[in-house]
Amino acid sequence: MTVFLLGHSFRYEIENIVRLFFPFSHFPYLTEGTPQGDYILTEISGGQAKVTVSFQGKRETSQKALSPAPDKGEQEMALCRLLFALLESITGIHPAWGVITGVRPVKLFTSRIRKGQPRDEIRKEFSEDWMVSDEKIDLCLETMDAQQPIIQSVREKEFSLYLSIPYCPTRCSYCSFVSQAIALKKNREGIPAYVEHLVKEIYFTAEIAKRNGLTLRSVYMGGGTPTAISPSLLKQVTDAVKEAFSLTGAVEYTIEAGRADTVTKEILSVIRQSGATRISINPQTFRDDVLERIGRRHTGAQVEEAFFLAREMGFSSINMDLIAGLPGDDFDGFCQSLEKAVSLNPENITVHALTVKRGADLYAGGEYPLDPFVPQRMVQEAYRRLKEEGYLPYYLYRQKNTPGNLENVGYAKPGQISYYNIVMMEELQTVLGVGANAVTKLVGEKGIVRIYNYKYPDEYFSRFSDILAKKKEIDIFYGEEAKKNG
Ligand code: SF4
Repeated sequence: MTVFLLGHSFRYEIENIVRLFFPFSHFPYLTEGTPQGDYILTEISGGQAKVTVSFQGKRETSQKALSPAPDKGEQEMALCRLLFALLESITGIHPAWGVITGVRPVKLFTSRIRKGQPRDEIRKEFSEDWMVSDEKIDLCLETMDAQQPIIQSVREKEFSLYLSIPYCPTRCSYCSFVSQAIALKKNREGIPAYVEHLVKEIYFTAEIAKRNGLTLRSVYMGGGTPTAISPSLLKQVTDAVKEAFSLTGAVEYTIEAGRADTVTKEILSVIRQSGATRISINPQTFRDDVLERIGRRHTGAQVEEAFFLAREMGFSSINMDLIAGLPGDDFDGFCQSLEKAVSLNPENITVHALTVKRGADLYAGGEYPLDPFVPQRMVQEAYRRLKEEGYLPYYLYRQKNTPGNLENVGYAKPGQISYYNIVMMEELQTVLGVGANAVTKLVGEKGIVRIYNYKYPDEYFSRFSDILAKKKEIDIFYGEEAKKNG
């Protein structure tokens, strides 16, 4: 297949649409030449957007007249919609999110509701203009409704704190994070220095929050796997959080204990003493052969043991992550994992669709490990089954390089939705990030300002003073917000 781009420069957008139908394709994109064989031709000329698809002996053309002086947005949308509709017709594949490419679809709904747009109109717009399926429109509306109590509760000058511990026992084959495998001696040896720097950044950040009059509302410690480090090092971090910040106004404090092989009585005791209210124990799958294949050195049974231990020790808010589309898994295997998770009755279950990103070992093969349309059935089944069990979708996001353009959805039992996941994902509140790869996101009336920490522990150590210096942006941001508000 060759893709022609004539009279426009929307390669990125066209490529996104093509990938919905041909995931992981590496087609040539040309701006001139004679189409022959299998090809897609996209063209802006003579006041028209025109698309032709020729595929496996079928050939269809569609065109649309543009307004007299079309801007780039109109041209781009016209081409994308024409192309999407033709590819649907020719391939018989119906990507459920239509031509929406953003990572936060619920935010699009919320912003329209805020402007007073009626639901029916929003439905119509997403269905007709963006070609989103009814199923995904329902999912967005349901998710938006579940978020309302938290959206209404957010006040100015509140923030959440994100702490990054970028270490894991081993590296999962699909991992594209910066996480360092502590199975390697060199990484393991760097952890005490990492904790030392992290603690300094915690105190430094707390001072900034104090002098800007910010109130802490939630804490989230992720990474990585925070429980991969030793109990005494984790305690140094949690003690610093407790001492540097006031946790009294915080409604939620999550520590990820993602890998079952890191969950011990000792580490859970540290978490209990820290004031954390929520943990995450992530099976991803309960199939041992799949766990082995993706490089997680624990079994499904160990996940259950970790879960029961946490319950025994009093954890009453537990999340479990599952992934749809893991290499070696299939529809039935995914359903069995889902049933197992449901039978444990955690407060939250988050269902991710596998993404294969650059930086992941899995990407090196260049192939998606499964029929890319199977995960679509998996996430549909998760939605059906979890709703049947009383779980409601409450946050949702999408990532690039997810076959079928699928979504990740957090489900919760009533009254158990995670505050942090909503404020972070919907960008409702400032998040102050500390640690390697953490991002500080300042949310104000004028928009969002991001401050990026260096990604890898080595850079984090060597450029630590730069990281602290960059945090001056927080003072500037809140200084300007204060001036604006008189
Ligand atoms: S547990 Fe998460 S962060 Fe750690 S290696 Fe696996 S995917 Fe990466």
